[in-house]
Amino acid sequence: MNARREDAAMAGTATHENWLEWYISGLKRAMESRGYPIVDSADPNPQVESNIVVNGIDPEQPRSYRRRSRAIFVAGAAALETMPDDVLSVGYTLMARSLSNVFMVFGRDREGLVVYFVTMERGFYDVRHTGDDDAFFGAVADRLVPLATSRLVIDNVFTPDLPEELWDGDEHSESIYRAGLRLADLDLLPAVFPLEELLSPQDLRHLNRLFGIGGLSYGNVSARRDADTFWMSASGVDKSHLRVVGQEVLLVTGFDEERQAIELSVPSDRTPRRVSVDAIEHYMLYREHPGVGAVLHVHAWMEGISSTEVNYPCGTIELAREVADLVRQADDPNRAVIGLKNHGLTITGIDLDEIFSRVEGKLLRQIPMD
Ligand SMILES: [Zn+2]
Repeated sequence: MNARREDAAMAGTATHENWLEWYISGLKRAMESRGYPIVDSADPNPQVESNIVVNGIDPEQPRSYRRRSRAIFVAGAAALETMPDDVLSVGYTLMARSLSNVFMVFGRDREGLVVYFVTMERGFYDVRHTGDDDAFFGAVADRLVPLATSRLVIDNVFTPDLPEELWDGDEHSESIYRAGLRLADLDLLPAVFPLEELLSPQDLRHLNRLFGIGGLSYGNVSARRDADTFWMSASGVDKSHLRVVGQEVLLVTGFDEERQAIELSVPSDRTPRRVSVDAIEHYMLYREHPGVGAVLHVHAWMEGISSTEVNYPCGTIELAREVADLVRQADDPNRAVIGLKNHGLTITGIDLDEIFSRVEGKLLRQIPMD
């Protein structure tokens, strides 16, 4: 096996393509031995059935893989001759352009062979080749399996029955607007990723249909309205302007177990936008803890907090459950700060002002990645 690596990757004559091929075939082997066969998008006649696709691309001409359904998970991969200094932004761009759920930038740097994972949440971590092919691909597969097998809960059911007196919001939705301004003040709102500049209109529509993504932005905020409902920021909007009800901030009224969809009450006079993908997580927290009055999710970190073990993607039931478990175990679930591995923080509080007064000055913009 090592001889093959020598041939394919280490020899100076190796071309790009066979390096990528070597990577993909090693990954396929490791995934299969773990019970998760994957389909190679380059294979015209795949011998396996699987919801996991690996899409190897030429970084100069990223080819997008169009899924039949959202249940298909696409891991994009590219081999780079030399690792750029900004692997995160290069990988993130390739992920968007190839319409992948996660992107693997494989190549060699000064220390040897390495693959960098880039996730939608701007997660970014590496797996190094330390001399043994099986160990390397095993470690890569172990990183991929939880991502590829978790389930997104991002369907929205809109009912245009929001009482007219709430069309302009209330004091709770107003607290969300103020929280957005405060996040902007704290410089905790990275620019929305410019998908429109990178993708064709068809590809944008495809992404939107699959993930409810209008633009990749980071973080979300919610505030309880009453025992059963809460306001939450919309998906992919400018968080420094969370005011228009039904479009920038939405009223979540429930979760339809059977359809696995978030239920929303919206004004009948406007076209609604989707709620943030993390609505399922906030929904679980409000339901379980009547004392939680607000939830804030930011891409930042704090010292001395408990953190999830696996970096499940945003909007999956698995991430929601893991966060809910940690909040339950916190000293005070109503005032908990939970780390989301390679991703950020979910913070519960009595209300948003209480959250900010507790965490301001302690938020670290650099998230540890491992
Ligand atoms: Zn996030």
